[in-house]
Amino acid sequence: MKKILVSGVQPSGRLHIGNYFGALKQFVDLQDEYETRIFIANLHALTTLQNPEELKKISRELVLDFLAIGLDPKKATLYYQSDVPHVTELAWIFSCLTTMPELMRAHAFKDKEAKNADINVGTFNYPVLMAADILVHDADAVPVGKDQKQHIEIAREVARDFNNVFGELFKEPKELILEAVETVPGTDGQKMSKSYGNTIPLFATDEEVDKAVMSIVTDSSGEYPENVFKIHQLFRTNDELDKIYTENKGQYKKLKELLAEDIKNFIRPMRERREEWAGKMDEVDKIVAEGGKKMREVVHKKMVEVRERVGLIHND
Ligand code: ATP
Ligand code: MG
Repeated sequence: MKKILVSGVQPSGRLHIGNYFGALKQFVDLQDEYETRIFIANLHALTTLQNPEELKKISRELVLDFLAIGLDPKKATLYYQSDVPHVTELAWIFSCLTTMPELMRAHAFKDKEAKNADINVGTFNYPVLMAADILVHDADAVPVGKDQKQHIEIAREVARDFNNVFGELFKEPKELILEAVETVPGTDGQKMSKSYGNTIPLFATDEEVDKAVMSIVTDSSGEYPENVFKIHQLFRTNDELDKIYTENKGQYKKLKELLAEDIKNFIRPMRERREEWAGKMDEVDKIVAEGGKKMREVVHKKMVEVRERVGLIHND
């Protein structure tokens, strides 16, 4: 039996190169080795996106994106998180075992709380729903960017808490983080994030790439313009970059043009593959619906055990 890989991406905006290099590329690279299950985290996205038309649109587009980067529906199951409603039930059970101080320590929560006093309970509970998403599959591996490391640690704690109280039932998952690309910076130098408006979209047009790259903040105390260089590292080896950055020392505009060229060449074939899939939306919708059906069956079996273990009488 293959080991199980699970990961999710929120349909909270357009995918960017940080998502790709930090997490999504690993899904593609590992789909032969692992039984791969990738979900569109539309319930998580509700914490920030409360516009039904927009949520539906981005959710479907994210399926397209997954197919365009090379996830093969024969190897990887793609599904909407909301098509497996058991996870919200499990999240409730887990939230009865998780303490407030545990969740208050989460960096993502603290950052968001600092920016928004009216933060919603969903945002606070985000790691618990994420624990349910992962643990319900008995996942072995969870490829993510570094910003999710602490959330996977919380998932392991949740598994331990449950196992201590109700007896061994959940496996402790391991995060797979690629050190070299663990946090891709955005055009403003902060973590590139869909919700920060600082992205280079993964399927950007050439014009969009030019515009985003030219807007990269370049003030730098080091030898090279730091943010430009860090993003460039995704596309070339350090040896190649040393040569390029030495030859064009101090010429930030030129360096940005070279970076933009590399990004455009990288994106073009994926964007074209995406356009092909976009012409077959019926097929795309079918793939994700079938994925949901398959996962519901798998997850249902696990939930029958969970309900039994915690003492919930159920009649189905
Ligand atoms: P949002 O701003 O809505 O949280 P996001 O860009 O952070 O969006 P998520 O859907 O939260 O994207 O994360 C999807 C995956 O991409 C996660 O595994 C996350 O760790 C990874 N990821 C997100 N941003 C980066 C980044 N800048 N560098 C590396 N990995 C990233
Ligand atoms: Mg995020």
